[in-house]
Amino acid sequence: MPKISVAIAGAGLSGLCLAHSLIRAGFAVQVYERDLELHARRQGYRITVDEYGIAALQRCLPPHLFKLFLATTSPTDETSYFRVTNQKLGEIFKLTFKGDSSGIDLRTPRQVDRQTLRTILLEGLQDKVHFGKEAVRAESASDGATLHFSDGSCTHVSIIVGADGVNSALRKQYLPDCEPEDTNSWGIFGRTLLVQNGRSLVPSPLETSGVFAMGPSSRGFFFTTMKFREAPQTAFSRFGVDQIPPVADDYVMWGIVLPRGQSPEHQEKLSKEMLHRFAQEITQDFHPVLQSFVERADIDCTMAIKLRAAREPSSWPVSRVTFMGDAVHIMPPTGAHGGNTALRDAALLAEKLEAAAIQGEALEQAVSSYQEEMSKYAFREVEASKVMMKRFTIKNPLINWVMLCAIPWIRSIANKPLTTELTYDGPMISKK
Ligand SMILES: Cc1cc2nc3c(=O)[nH]c(=O)nc-3n(C[C@H](O)[C@H](O)[C@H](O)COP(=O)(O)OP(=O)(O)OC[C@H]3O[C@@H](n4cnc5c(N)ncnc54)[C@H](O)[C@@H]3O)c2cc1C
Repeated sequence: MPKISVAIAGAGLSGLCLAHSLIRAGFAVQVYERDLELHARRQGYRITVDEYGIAALQRCLPPHLFKLFLATTSPTDETSYFRVTNQKLGEIFKLTFKGDSSGIDLRTPRQVDRQTLRTILLEGLQDKVHFGKEAVRAESASDGATLHFSDGSCTHVSIIVGADGVNSALRKQYLPDCEPEDTNSWGIFGRTLLVQNGRSLVPSPLETSGVFAMGPSSRGFFFTTMKFREAPQTAFSRFGVDQIPPVADDYVMWGIVLPRGQSPEHQEKLSKEMLHRFAQEITQDFHPVLQSFVERADIDCTMAIKLRAAREPSSWPVSRVTFMGDAVHIMPPTGAHGGNTALRDAALLAEKLEAAAIQGEALEQAVSSYQEEMSKYAFREVEASKVMMKRFTIKNPLINWVMLCAIPWIRSIANKPLTTELTYDGPMISKK
């Protein structure tokens, strides 16, 4: 039987994950990536991987790469928290996640550095991933599909998978009514080395916490710590991976969410330095611990993102071109589900295509079953992320007062207030 050939547009999380599984199952796979190299853009953020993301990676990756992934995630032995606070870190409520001291319960969510994960995903695929190849258009026929690139070249394959992210060129062609809606919010994200001058920037009560601090005027500040269970360099050499890990040290990932009216014009086009300066200005009324993350950030990792949410396609015709991940179901990062859902898609599509190949079924049948199943869980996550973002950016002044003033005050009487334990003992933050 001739090999089934697959062209994947986009070497992001889902594209690379799918490629591993299909290659192991005997498919002929090529991945086409628009960027000139893997780390052409510094995407300095970590992601929370949950049971779906972990299960997908376990299914798709060769066992040694899955173990390497686990080795470079954050430790899971301590109890962790998601805290919602006001801008001065007065606690509104917290969610508690039980630790797993054995480290083997794969349902326990953990943090992973996105660039490190992508480097692990590239391992073994170096000769299958073609950088500098921007997919612009696809044609589907009954016997296969053709993917066209911006350099004028094209490739003919059995099936094309659009994993080309939020601005997917192929989605615009195949699902024109599915262009993401604007949530009218922006995010500025950054990364800051955790230990500076021999001291951790995160006070010990918050070491194992993700924190969302709700500020005035619907502004919010999020941070969490990315600690590596094993130093990436040691783990990479232990598993015989020759690539250089892109990140060496633990860091704090922070993000500021703000309504569109409060962002500068053309925020996406600002230089990193201007963006960083702006981030400092708009966080002046937040707790000094939070300000210190911005103040001491790696400026080169600062980025601005318009937060968008997918629209479910009114109809999704089955063809030899299908989609995964942000290309079809972008969601705001509130909830931490975008990447996990993208990885889940990759595992599901792999399962459907591999089963079709074994049973000699038409590929269209596999695509149809994948699209139907995926739409159900993915658009549920999109809605949940939108709802969570609205809850964190409340506009009603009365509810705001209750959330930001009354509840933290009542809690501070009932419990020891968090802020009395948070000392910022670095140099004074300069007020500009
Ligand atoms: C700050 C932030 C924090 C986040 N935190 C979390 C989290 O905690 N948990 C979580 O699950 N998710 C999180 N997410 C979301 C997550 O990062 C994305 O959902 C995930 O990366 C989507 O994977 P993907 O494979 O669909 O797309 P991507 O990983 O974006 O990959 C798309 C790839 O396609 C390439 N490409 C684009 N256009 C073309 C083209 N025309 N031709 C060829 N290649 C192209 C791009 O260069 C890119 O490499 C976060 C996102 C942000 C911004």
